[in-house]
Amino acid sequence: MSSEHSVYDTPVKSLTGVGPVKLKALEALGVHRLADLLGILPRSYQLRERLPMDELKPGMQAMVVGQVLRLKLMGSPKAQRLEIMLKDGTGYIKLVFFQPKFVAYLRNIEPMTVLTAIGQVNSFNAMLQMAHPKVVLGDKSEELQGVWPIYPELKNLAPSDFNRLIESAFNLIKEKPPQENFSPDILKKLNLMPLLESYQAIHQPEASALHTLLDPAHHPAFRRMAFEELYALQLRLQKHRNAQQQAAAPQVAAVDAKLLFAEIMPFAPTNAQARVINEIVGDLARPIPMLRLLQGDVGSGKTAVAASAARHMSKAGYQTAIMAPTEILAEQHYQLFIKLFGPEKIARLQGSLKSKERRLAIERLKSGEAKIIIGTHALISDDVEFHKLGLCIIDEQHRFGVDQRTQLRNKGKSGLRLPHVLAMTATPIPRSLALTAYGDFALSVIDELPPGRTPISTHILQGEPTKNILLLAEKCVRNNEQAYIIYPLVEESEKLDLLDAEAGFRHLEGHFGGTQVALIHGRMNAAEKDAAMQRFSRGDARFLVSTTVIEVGVDVPNATCMMIIHPERFGLSQLHQLRGRVGRGSRKSACYLISDKLFLSGEAYRRLTIMEKTQNGFEIAAEDLAIRGPGDFLGTRQSGLPIFHHCDLVKHADLIEPARELAIAELP
Ligand code: ADP
Ligand code: MG
Repeated sequence: MSSEHSVYDTPVKSLTGVGPVKLKALEALGVHRLADLLGILPRSYQLRERLPMDELKPGMQAMVVGQVLRLKLMGSPKAQRLEIMLKDGTGYIKLVFFQPKFVAYLRNIEPMTVLTAIGQVNSFNAMLQMAHPKVVLGDKSEELQGVWPIYPELKNLAPSDFNRLIESAFNLIKEKPPQENFSPDILKKLNLMPLLESYQAIHQPEASALHTLLDPAHHPAFRRMAFEELYALQLRLQKHRNAQQQAAAPQVAAVDAKLLFAEIMPFAPTNAQARVINEIVGDLARPIPMLRLLQGDVGSGKTAVAASAARHMSKAGYQTAIMAPTEILAEQHYQLFIKLFGPEKIARLQGSLKSKERRLAIERLKSGEAKIIIGTHALISDDVEFHKLGLCIIDEQHRFGVDQRTQLRNKGKSGLRLPHVLAMTATPIPRSLALTAYGDFALSVIDELPPGRTPISTHILQGEPTKNILLLAEKCVRNNEQAYIIYPLVEESEKLDLLDAEAGFRHLEGHFGGTQVALIHGRMNAAEKDAAMQRFSRGDARFLVSTTVIEVGVDVPNATCMMIIHPERFGLSQLHQLRGRVGRGSRKSACYLISDKLFLSGEAYRRLTIMEKTQNGFEIAAEDLAIRGPGDFLGTRQSGLPIFHHCDLVKHADLIEPARELAIAELP
């Protein structure tokens, strides 16, 4: 049904007027087929009506009506140029023609003849002129008036040439009208125009349509353009998903989620955890590879879900690899898994290992002795081989690129067999965006926090940061609490005049003594970071001063106070992640957003108040998406997100799910 051989696929070189030069210009613009040409949309519209000549200005598109004052044929016979001077009682304009066809057609026009001319106004030697305008005999301004599409500037392609190409594209389409892909019912339900009508409404609009065209996000023709992109993307994703399902995968008989959880965890799963474990275990029981994205707010207990899945695979004799984005996180998972499973079956692999330890770990993966392997991207090094890799778990998946995910998975490839993949993320992605960036994944959501959590009270503090930090730190000492103090930069930057983590560390050290304060920043090596982290998580150090290296996943339940310095420098989702480091035990926790008042604009302040108002990660993510747009929201590493020309994932969010459903129906 998809229009693979429709007229829209005609190469542009078969359009009249496309010679080698124009073809090159078009190809440089990425225009190869008719659909690409019609996909270059006007950036705005202008009303086309007759203008008196004294209102003409260089650069504008205009329609004029006037009498021929005189005609001049110039140049050599081989390169003739015809100049027609036109007047309308308010002024004069010179029309210039170079193309022999037009020169021949117009050279015998009588003076006093009335002409209508449409084209771009230029100024030459202080005289207004139009170079090869469209001309018609007589005053045709009534018939020709309408709405003028204004296209973006195109390199090596004049606006008049582009207009002519669009015109000849429509001429070609009229010869072989293409079939519409979707039924009238569907189009009506989604408020979309049929494709051909959409192209016409956009490129050759009716005069009466001007006001609706100026609101493209809601116009059914522009919506159709957005929908075409979303649908094409979903078809691609669906094809990819179907191809994946041709592969075989280890099949492990399903078990009861609650019992599985109870085998390793000291507490009962939340309902959401149990539901998600059931979804995963259900996937693992099928003979095709799982591709599942697990989203759960910070602290919702994703690690326990991952541990249950690993346990399930290991009992059936398969290995599980868990890849985390930072050494701190990998180390923390490693320590936890040793506690849960005992050391015999667990291995770790990260960049900081000594070569002997590393050799030993690799040996244990290869022999199959290690059933659960936890590491950083060191897991995808060339010399790493698994014995029987059945499941890849990618923690904080948004920190990795698609390639790294694929590389890890391919470590377990044998013949047609691929391991299962579970990707986890604590940055809740609004469903619309998840279906776009992860359309080939099945989605699971943990939408419930473990019991006994108290809400984290959040406060914006403005004024001298050092003073506020000190007051809060003294309160921590009085109440015997632990606190994080997070800075946005590693080093002092004179330009931004921001306090840095090291200065903050020294300041606290001066007041409370060195044993009370630990420091972590990106310039430290893994062993130094680990030592500092250990001091804090054991409770030896009361304060942990850090840059955002601790943003993801760190779990120290005794810490109850979070201070974020210069919060306006962070994205909302990042602030939410940082805040999620506290509120993990049963004691009441607080988060302070500590800003120098001078830095807070109205907009920044409004953004931060969202943090005060809600603790729901999905709400925060939706705000963050609206403020930053999808690209920034997902981050540059998310190569999963395609470039859209017409679709705005926020404004056209309602079209995403239908595009997916229709693609699934097309490619079941
Ligand atoms: P996430 O990775 O989703 O941010 P974690 O897996 O680190 O969250 O869990 C956060 C905390 O909640 C941990 O201290 C963990 O032991 C605890 N936890 C997880 N699941 C439960 C549960 N079902 N009941 C009680 N506590 C839980
Ligand atoms: Mg986690």
